[in-house]
Amino acid sequence: MTGTIQAHAFRPRDLVGGHIVIDLVNTVTARDAEPIDWLDGYPRLLEWAALTGQFAPAALAVLRRLAETDPGGAASALEHIRELREALHNLITALLDQDAAVAEGAVGQVENHWKQAVASARLIVRGTTPQPQVGVETSGLEYLRHELALQAFDLLRSLPLDRTRVCPGLRCGWVFIDSSRGGRRRWCDMATCGNAAKGRTHYQRKRQTASPQGHQRPPG
Ligand SMILES: [Zn+2]
Repeated sequence: MTGTIQAHAFRPRDLVGGHIVIDLVNTVTARDAEPIDWLDGYPRLLEWAALTGQFAPAALAVLRRLAETDPGGAASALEHIRELREALHNLITALLDQDAAVAEGAVGQVENHWKQAVASARLIVRGTTPQPQVGVETSGLEYLRHELALQAFDLLRSLPLDRTRVCPGLRCGWVFIDSSRGGRRRWCDMATCGNAAKGRTHYQRKRQTASPQGHQRPPG
């Protein structure tokens, strides 16, 4: 990703991807134009993680303290999670575009992150299902990336490509899984991109109808 890094206060409406891994991909906006990275620091990553509601507050508090005592480690952990995010974006969009060559390169990058996560993981049995589990005590500042890499593996194995879309909104490019009943969701968020597009169409229609109306006016 080439673009700019910009401070952003994450809100619930920034989590519209339908899966936490896709919401991570969507921490960059305007991918269709000049991409803007909203993760402007490790504390921001922790804010985003808290908003997802999928991490224990106690673990996030440990990470906050670790980041304060080891700013260099936090900076490189942030860089690593950006690498995972971009690899996932490249892979998901390549799968959607059926671009096998790009997908092969991107899946190799995802593989590296997944291997690192597995190397820090324990295999536990939850209910009746054995599954890898990572924790802040073994992964340290890389915990969020390790957890998201494991979840990415789960997502990618069952990603519904026919329901996975890229929002066509101007300066958006967010990815989302359309879980609507009819499968006709077009926008990441009707309240933002959908309304903006409606506004533009309305404006264009008004412009288009303005001059014909003038011609139709009866003479005299
Ligand atoms: Zn959008």
